[in-house]
Amino acid sequence: MSEMVFDKYTDEYGPEKIVYIHEPRCGLKGIVVIDNTAAGPGIGGIRMAPDVTTGEVFRLARAMTWKNALAGIPHGGGKSAILADHTVPNKETLIRQFARAIEALRGYIPGPDMGTDETAMGWIRDEIGRSVGLSKVLGGIPLDQIGATGYGLAICAEVAQEFAGINLKGATVSVQGFGNVGSHAARYLSQRGAILIAASDLDGTIHDPDGIDIEKLVQIKAETGRVTDYPAPVKLPQEAFLDTPCDIFVPAARPDAVNENNVARLNTKMVLQGANIAVTAQAERILHARGILSVPDFVANAGGVICAAVEYRGGTQKQAFETIEEKIRENTREVLALAREHSLMPNEAALTLAKRRVAEAMKFRRS
Ligand code: NAD
Repeated sequence: MSEMVFDKYTDEYGPEKIVYIHEPRCGLKGIVVIDNTAAGPGIGGIRMAPDVTTGEVFRLARAMTWKNALAGIPHGGGKSAILADHTVPNKETLIRQFARAIEALRGYIPGPDMGTDETAMGWIRDEIGRSVGLSKVLGGIPLDQIGATGYGLAICAEVAQEFAGINLKGATVSVQGFGNVGSHAARYLSQRGAILIAASDLDGTIHDPDGIDIEKLVQIKAETGRVTDYPAPVKLPQEAFLDTPCDIFVPAARPDAVNENNVARLNTKMVLQGANIAVTAQAERILHARGILSVPDFVANAGGVICAAVEYRGGTQKQAFETIEEKIRENTREVLALAREHSLMPNEAALTLAKRRVAEAMKFRRS
């Protein structure tokens, strides 16, 4: 078993630790992967779902290593899972027990992910004094409420516009998944002169070439849960988001939304990745060949984790916005310039930079 784990998951970057937690009395089963802490303790969320595998936690932890390195925050990558449905009646017991089990793993700072939220982070902080994504009353910065990730996406687009040959002022935007990330991205992009012309969720797509009233749509979505309740002149099926011509397409829903089977339908100049792994590797290559700029998720959507890093140091909301702006502006420019200079795809350039930073940080470690 141990040899299998080593063969399967280890390389020159990590992981440093894979820890399995089992507490038979309350039924807790958990997995923690601390991937690389050369730049600082790993920040990464706790996923709560019954079917999470070691492989999934490892891939998510590695993704955090690259994202945090690229974001330029003093943190490495880690991730964990509690193998239970997030609606179980003894959720608080499981989470508190999990917190005590990870107390000694000081290379890992837990945050929220699928199935966990700021309440869960509050319980963990109460147990071990260490978590991010806390509520305001515990010194947290409400990153979803302030739209930290959406703000970062808009800053990223400010830099990327030149590389995509578009002008944000008057640029048309289509958002797939008008949830937290998607709605805030639309709002912050519109503050920079862009126009939201299409938005979709699970129920369908709305299209208005004259521009959608974002605040009205946010209100309707909050009230009914459906973008299709907005009085748009055109209502289309859910997958129509692919066919709507726009300058900037923001996938902000699920992984693999753009894949080799549907990428040909996209009619845009820039894909600004709000969701994680929203574009498959094959689709990335096709976009690149078509001359469409695809800004990688871990460059564009790092606003949330940057906000968490500021929170961890006791920073304010204002400092979070300033840090997101500074880091994302700088990193987007560096990644896209490297890609242009060496004719790389942006995701290749981003990975090259992230690996370089992790390798540099690792030189300070005792060998
Ligand atoms: P959310 O639940 O608030 O919003 C997701 C939206 O997508 C919902 O409106 C849902 O109806 C819609 N949706 C789901 N499936 C869809 C489909 N097939 N087609 C169209 N719409 C669909 O979630 P969120 O917090 O906005 O996160 C969106 C994505 O971004 C997730 O993949 C998340 O992991 C990633 N992400 C979030 C953050 C953050 O700060 N919240 C940071 C980085 C990455």
